[in-house]
Amino acid sequence: MPIRPLRLNLQVLGLALLLAGCDQGRARVAAEEVPPAWAVAPDELAAEPPAEALAGVVWQRAAEAGPALFVGAAGAGGLVLRAVEDGREYPGIAGIEPDHIAMATGFPRGGRAGPLFVASDRGSANLWLLDIDVAAPALRPAHLQPLYTGTEVTGLCTYRSPASGRHYVFVAGGDGLLQQWELTDAQGGVRGRRVRDVALGAGIGACAVDDAAGTVYVADEQVGIWQVAAEPEGDAADRRLVMHVGNERDAAREVSGLALYRDTLLALLDEGERLQAFALPGATSLGMVVPVAGSGNAALGELEAIWAGDGADGGVILLSDPKAAAGPRWQLVPWASLAAVLQRPPVATGAPRATASALPTVTATVETEPVDDHGDAADDVAIWVDPADPAKSLIIGAQKKRGLELYDLGGRRLQLLADGRMNNVDLRQGVTLGGQRMDIIAASNRTRGAISLYTLDARSRRLQSIGEPVPTGMRDPYGLCMYVSARDGRVYVFVNNSDRGEFGQWLLERHGAGIGARLVREFVVGSQAEGCVADDASGALYITEEDVGLWRYAAEPDGGDARDRIDATGEGGRLAADVEGLALFQGPGGGGYLVVSNQGADNYALYRRDAGNAFVGFFAIGASDDLGIDGASETDGLDVTSHALGPAFPHGLLVVQDGRNITPAERQNFKLVPWERVAAAMGLPLP
Ligand code: CA
Ligand code: CA
Ligand code: CA
Ligand code: CA
Ligand code: CA
Ligand code: CA
Repeated sequence: MPIRPLRLNLQVLGLALLLAGCDQGRARVAAEEVPPAWAVAPDELAAEPPAEALAGVVWQRAAEAGPALFVGAAGAGGLVLRAVEDGREYPGIAGIEPDHIAMATGFPRGGRAGPLFVASDRGSANLWLLDIDVAAPALRPAHLQPLYTGTEVTGLCTYRSPASGRHYVFVAGGDGLLQQWELTDAQGGVRGRRVRDVALGAGIGACAVDDAAGTVYVADEQVGIWQVAAEPEGDAADRRLVMHVGNERDAAREVSGLALYRDTLLALLDEGERLQAFALPGATSLGMVVPVAGSGNAALGELEAIWAGDGADGGVILLSDPKAAAGPRWQLVPWASLAAVLQRPPVATGAPRATASALPTVTATVETEPVDDHGDAADDVAIWVDPADPAKSLIIGAQKKRGLELYDLGGRRLQLLADGRMNNVDLRQGVTLGGQRMDIIAASNRTRGAISLYTLDARSRRLQSIGEPVPTGMRDPYGLCMYVSARDGRVYVFVNNSDRGEFGQWLLERHGAGIGARLVREFVVGSQAEGCVADDASGALYITEEDVGLWRYAAEPDGGDARDRIDATGEGGRLAADVEGLALFQGPGGGGYLVVSNQGADNYALYRRDAGNAFVGFFAIGASDDLGIDGASETDGLDVTSHALGPAFPHGLLVVQDGRNITPAERQNFKLVPWERVAAAMGLPLP
């Protein structure tokens, strides 16, 4: 047995004193308060000890639907199925050696919802998906084929997304990756698809999910408890340690088990010597208890796993005690007994926390090839409509580490122009400059501190530079958009500087073979701004101020700094910072919609183009299972057109940058969504 630090030995001594009847309130060891004891009453699920007693779950049905059933991972003994009431044994699953099990409730199968169990198999590194033949009852495989994880499975937990309703299982692996698989009901059985991996650390094991908050908690034996966003499009880098092993305050040596029930997270520490509770959301500590054998119960061994969920009269806690003196066993304990020790209300009788209501969600039909650089490289986008053959229209992407990229509507990259760090891009087609009709593409070039200008050669389907970049005098040109005046046909480019939202408006003029620009207006938004779009028909200029909200200015050079607030972040507003890309869907007769990237919430806001820019609603871009295209999140730039672009996009096209290109993890790219999907999801008429 390894030598433990003195303080912890003293704590074990303290526990012994406590059990000998010492006054808990005054018992202090090394200036640390000894946690109160939690008496585990004898309610053993096993008449016969199983081969091993590892993880387990309880399926509590509505009383009239039948008795509660227990499913346990018994290692070499396979999966066992028992009635909770009397421990009666039903047919389980032999032939696999499960260490871990998790249960998804309300899983849709052929139009009905029921429980789905996920169990690991030690030898094959496979996951088995199972359901219960209720009439028998008996466990039976539900998968088309087992899911191969390629690693030693060290923990399992399920997640049901409140945003999309989709079901997932998280798989902690001995290789330090937390795998996320989506589970779907398919023809003939349940299908699993690995949607992302989150690299956490080689000691990860037990996990538990807070569905309402969209958070997964993962124990790393040697590190503590990680909190990570559970949505597959969530920011994996945005993780937090809610408990740290080995530090002064937390003092545990290791975390072995995790359970989550309604608004409480439980962590089993140091082979079950202690149990720490946390309040959700936020994971603030509710204190620690020491599990001890209650009266009539044989001594506890080393508790290895914990699970909590609904029971017949409120919640139940399941403890796995594989090394108990009497043989491996599982014990079920009423939630209320722990709640009493923690001096918490018996939360099991309370309603589950409300979950976020699902947003209308659309899916992309095409994703572009990933950009050339790693990291946050893709940014803004502009759609060029081929007037002769709209199905051959093109997408210009600003790649802010290298230049401009050109894609066809199938997402194939046709060209990379490495002309500098291009942040934003916009275009106008068929404008007249110096008596010549042309298409102009403008991009903010941070390398040159300039506006780079291009045209698009329809024959070769390539971008062509028009003269030298136009200097802006700005240290860091950032956001950019174009405006063509309906009054006089003049062509303008708006560019902003990256820090205070200082805008300049340049009038483009023909200069010999090239194009020059003259600064005609300056104004300051107040803080970091980027996205902008001008409505040529109405003369409105829309600007997003990233931390603040959405503004409407006048696009004519005499517009000054007068502005109207359309929406805001924070109190009184609907948006979540950063507010980023902006584009205009131009319907007939001045109608249409303003599309805004609401980056802080990973979704998109729609406003009316007319009618005072009235708010229409939010939508999200989710994953397409059929096409294997992930959803879009953390979107910077976007563009939209109402032009019919051939059979693939007959009612127009929305293109958005995807900050997290997953399934598999790749460099960033752009997602293409047919507009009719947005219209259908939002209940909008098609023009
Ligand atoms: Ca970004
Ligand atoms: Ca743009
Ligand atoms: Ca941002
Ligand atoms: Ca930005
Ligand atoms: Ca994505
Ligand atoms: Ca992808």
